[in-house]
Order: sequence, then C-alpha cells, then structure tokens
Amino acid sequence: MGKHRCVIHPTFGGAVVLSTLLIAAEVDAYGQPLDFDPCLDCGLCNGVCPTGAIAKDGAFDFVSCYAHNYRERLGGFQSWVESVVASSSVKDYRKRVSDPETVSMWQNLSIGAQTKCDKCMAVCPAGEAAIGEYLPDRKGYTEQVAHRLHDRDETVFVVPGSDAEAYVTKRFPEKRVKRVSSGIHPQSAAGFIENLPLVFQSGQSAGLDTTYHFTFTGAEQLEATVVIRDGRLESQRGHAGTPDLHVTADAETGVSFLAKETSLPKALATRKLKIKGSPKLMMSFARCFPL
Ligand code: SF4
Ligand code: SF4
Repeated sequence: MGKHRCVIHPTFGGAVVLSTLLIAAEVDAYGQPLDFDPCLDCGLCNGVCPTGAIAKDGAFDFVSCYAHNYRERLGGFQSWVESVVASSSVKDYRKRVSDPETVSMWQNLSIGAQTKCDKCMAVCPAGEAAIGEYLPDRKGYTEQVAHRLHDRDETVFVVPGSDAEAYVTKRFPEKRVKRVSSGIHPQSAAGFIENLPLVFQSGQSAGLDTTYHFTFTGAEQLEATVVIRDGRLESQRGHAGTPDLHVTADAETGVSFLAKETSLPKALATRKLKIKGSPKLMMSFARCFPL
C-alpha cells in the first residue's frame, strides 16, 4: 500500500481498482509478501492532493478525501439529496448547487458513479509501467505530470470547518472551494465510536490534551473512552483513565447531537445529555468531527 492508500501492484502501480474476483480454483495458500516496498516515498501524491488528505508524515484524512473524491458516489449523493430537500425554491436550489454540478450528478447516476479526483493515483510513478519514465528524469516527470495535476482549474469540495477547508484555501488559493456535507451520519453510538479515527480532523484538535468518557444509555448501552492529544486520537470501549469530561447521554440524543441534528443547549435542556466538566470541551470535541 502506498502513501496514497492505494494498493501498489508491482507492474501497474497504483492504477489498479480492486473489485470482485471469480476464480475457478481452490485457494489453499497465501501469496508471499513482496520483499521490497514498491512505494518510492517520492511525495508526489502529497503534492498534488487538493484536500491535504495525504499528510507528509504518512497520516491519511479519510473524510477530506471522501467529501471531494466521492462527491458523486454514496456520501456525496446523500449530501446532494439534502441540498434538494433543504432548498426553499428552484432559485434557492440553484444557489446551492450549480448547473454543472447538477449535470455532473446526473451523468454519474446515469453511467455509474465515478470518483472525482484520483490525482494521487494518476501521479504515482510506482510500478514497472510508470517507473521507467520517472527514475531517469524525476524533474521532467514532475513538470510533465505532477505540475499539470497540481495546477488544474477545479472546484474542491470540503466539509465546513474541516482541515481540508483550511488546507485548500491556504495551499491552492486559486481553486474554487465548495462547502458541502460529507453525507456521513452516525447511525448508532457504537458505529460512531468505531468510525471516530476515520472522521477525526487533526488540525481542528490543536491544543487539546483531553480524555473524554462517554456513557450511552437507553436503547443502546455503551461506555467508551476517547483521548485526543498532540493531534492524535485514541478510542476504546469501556472507561479508562481519569476523564476531563464525562458525557452521559441517551444514545438517541447523543447520536443526534454528534450528527449535528440537535444542539448542545437543547440536548442539555432536555436532560437527555449531561456533562460533568466544561461545556467548552464538548464543543471542542464536536469541532474535531465536522461532518
Ligand atoms: S483522491 Fe484526491 S483528495 Fe483523495 S487522497 Fe487522492 S489526491 Fe487527495
Ligand atoms: S506517489 Fe510516490 S509516495 Fe505516493 S504512493 Fe506513489 S510512490 Fe508512494
């Protein structure tokens, strides 16, 4: 797997899409791992990524890539439906969604949803098919392939308040930025806790060194600990350590707050969500997971 999180095939590099394989033979042994790392650590994928999803230190921001690259796949489709529902008139819809975006959504629904970006895959020189072009003339390859992808005139789809929004406006001020919902909504407390690492926004957690305890009650009973420190997140089932904030919530209300459907004051007023600790820490927590 390369820094861009795609499988790197020894011959075809990152230009491989895994689908379903039907084989007419019994599988009785695993293949052997490669004895070398086909990722060249060239950093080109990091350089062309418009959302900053591929960090230099190797971390990957799933939700930033998802909101942009998958704009016309499942999450983006849900977000588009929400725009339709939230529009008060045709004029209002056109303010929210441009005509080219509507056409693009229609095209994707008609022919089968495509990904929107894939620049990290396109630029990747790993694999026999592309490496011959890259190794003898790295500068030329960068100018020919990477710069063209980097400079492309495009709209970048970002979740408001995400690391991607801050990144694209600073690194690519010439690109258009469209603020959208990721289309991801927690469906359950367990699902939310499990998926926290995927939606965590490291940049939004700056300054936090906080241990959170969650106790979900009602239809779904669950305890969890989340530690956010040095821009990193660790989560586990059960309570561990001493919390700076303890949140006890009816599972339905807690999930609704995390999905931004219920405000914190409303959840507190109905006493379906109680906190022991500073409400500011609760807001800081929510800021780390813009959806
Ligand atoms: S698909 Fe695009 S947004 Fe996603 S990691 Fe690759 S370059 Fe970045
Ligand atoms: S572009 Fe370079 S760093 Fe990124 S996955 Fe490919 S070989 Fe690795």
